[in-house]
Amino acid sequence: MRIGRTESRVAVVGGGIGGMAAAAFLHRAGLDVTVHEQAAVLKEIGAGLVLAPNAVRLLRHLDVADDALRRAVPLDWGWEFRRWQDGTVLSVERLEGVCERLYGERTYTMHRAHLLDALRSAVPDRAVRLGSRCTGVEARGHGVRLSFADGTSTDADIVVGADGTHSTVRDTVAEPTEPRISGLCAFRTVVPAASAPAFALRPAQTIWLGPGRHFVHYPISGGRAVNVVAVAPAGADTEESWSATAGIGEFRAEFEGWDARVGDLITAGSVPGRWALLDRPPLPRWSRGRVTLLGDAAHAMYPFYGQGAAQSIEDAAVLARCLTAGAADPEQALARYERARIGRTSRLQEVSHGRAQDNHLPDGPEQRARDRAFTRADPLVRNGWIYGYDAQAVPL
Ligand SMILES: Cc1cc2nc3c(=O)[nH]c(=O)nc-3n(C[C@H](O)[C@H](O)[C@H](O)COP(=O)(O)OP(=O)(O)OC[C@H]3O[C@@H](n4cnc5c(N)ncnc54)[C@H](O)[C@@H]3O)c2cc1C
Repeated sequence: MRIGRTESRVAVVGGGIGGMAAAAFLHRAGLDVTVHEQAAVLKEIGAGLVLAPNAVRLLRHLDVADDALRRAVPLDWGWEFRRWQDGTVLSVERLEGVCERLYGERTYTMHRAHLLDALRSAVPDRAVRLGSRCTGVEARGHGVRLSFADGTSTDADIVVGADGTHSTVRDTVAEPTEPRISGLCAFRTVVPAASAPAFALRPAQTIWLGPGRHFVHYPISGGRAVNVVAVAPAGADTEESWSATAGIGEFRAEFEGWDARVGDLITAGSVPGRWALLDRPPLPRWSRGRVTLLGDAAHAMYPFYGQGAAQSIEDAAVLARCLTAGAADPEQALARYERARIGRTSRLQEVSHGRAQDNHLPDGPEQRARDRAFTRADPLVRNGWIYGYDAQAVPL
């Protein structure tokens, strides 16, 4: 058997944020890791994300935080909820100083490509194979054989499926299931700072709530752009893809009658992307033998807690810890990784799902009760279980 601290050949399928984080943590732990990414060029979509303290502290552990955060925006103003019709501020949760005091790190917004670049810098060039689309995964004795679309194959001791929501690897560890149509989609666009109103350039994540829809924006790229992501009814659309697009007119029409500042941001933005939100309940298992899953392949969730990428980075840190501590028995190590992670990510899938209802209440008594409750909500403390988690320190 080839398993040993410096000998294990780990193949990671997928070079997105999760796969690259896995490669970075595994390489740092002394394992021989190769990432197989289907795209010919490594790139993230041109959009932003929010990175909470539970992910930021892991970037520090990889020594890539300075690189990633150099172009990020610290979300010091905080979270601001507004009413759809007239922008009435429902609540403000200031993050400046508070996040660091409670969790030792700030919350940032950043461009996805900057995060991927930073993770990539912690992985040696020889460990990344591009244009390598995995088409088959087969257990072979004490190893696993991966086949690729170009007719080649490779053997590994351990395979990590980090191949996103439409994972090929997932079908080898879990029963194939059809996701449910949620009826919702996420529009996204990026507005250059020069075309954005000043209020959208504050270091704030602003969340406008209205009947059946919500609209979120925050600055990214050191304040040179504003990222917009908005959730609305999907109609007949079921395409869950970063490359699907919509018309600016369609996007605007969904927010007809909302505060004019919302429409102005849509109009000033690039061609909108549209991602149909499909509903994937938590999987009962992620691992089989020497194959496991990570990131969206394991636990795709609605984006309402801004935790999908963060959870994939946490997975990566815990996976590396389990594989180094359990080098003699990789199957046990993968089972331990799954046990350590599945409860937490399932809970996040569930709470994210629940927020679709709460964010989209029609105007009426329930909505008024929700808005009144905002003043007492204190989400930073209430969600301590999310932000306080340290994947490098949790007992395994
Ligand atoms: C609208 C929206 C907003 C979001 N906002 C946030 C946020 O603010 N904060 C946050 O933390 N998360 C956010 N998320 C979630 C986050 O985007 C995902 O959780 C994260 O990108 C998952 O990373 P991943 O590496 O697991 O999957 P992906 O990013 O999907 O990467 C998978 C990779 O695998 C490759 N691949 C696929 N199939 C194969 C194959 N067969 N062979 C080889 N390679 C393959 C793909 O090309 C891709 O590079 C958001 C999601 C959405 C939809």
